[in-house]
Amino acid sequence: MIYVIEYAISGRAKCAWCGDVIEKDSLRIGKRFPSGFGDYSANLTTKWYHANHFFDHFSVRTSDLEGYDLLTRADQKWVLVQLRKTLPHAGI
Ligand SMILES: [Zn+2]
Repeated sequence: MIYVIEYAISGRAKCAWCGDVIEKDSLRIGKRFPSGFGDYSANLTTKWYHANHFFDHFSVRTSDLEGYDLLTRADQKWVLVQLRKTLPHAGI
């Protein structure tokens, strides 16, 4: 599984958890998976989540989040706080 974290480049994607639109420039997390059979690398589909909804329901590490290094320091900190909630023993 591949995860990506970024600022929404448009306001069109909907959160796969709550169904609401993810506002442009807000933090979102995508879960990428093969959209079908065959060549995995060529057919990745992304499901987007509001960052807070993602962390409510999935446990990941920063090393699983592509794009984490590109976030602002403040948002990196926020992400770490969320991860501590979901992974109390991860030692991060
Ligand atoms: Zn949501």
